[in-house]
Amino acid sequence: MITRCWWCDAEAVRLCDVLIGCERRKSSNTLIVGEPYTCDAAFCADHGRQIGHVCGNEPDSIDACCEHRGIGAVRLPDLATSKEASDKVRSAIRAKARRQLMRLVMP
Ligand SMILES: [Zn+2]
Ligand SMILES: [Zn+2]
Repeated sequence: MITRCWWCDAEAVRLCDVLIGCERRKSSNTLIVGEPYTCDAAFCADHGRQIGHVCGNEPDSIDACCEHRGIGAVRLPDLATSKEASDKVRSAIRAKARRQLMRLVMP
């Protein structure tokens, strides 16, 4: 099974690695940062770009989707603070991508 790009019909080659949320809990006066949530949008070679590189034992590229390639990173105060909120951000990006795709198909 191949994954399709969210922004067109091409085969997706990468997933967006941009952080969109991070679980945050306050315990007395300590801020506990939990699980990070990444965008995970699937995109083809045309609808995203590499924005960074992870060095070390497991080198990997850091990629950004069509929505995030211009900004690179979401500002810390804008990060979602729960899994539910991150899911909402993700589906909003997906809905926007779908609207763009529809405009492309039906001018
Ligand atoms: Zn695409
Ligand atoms: Zn993204």
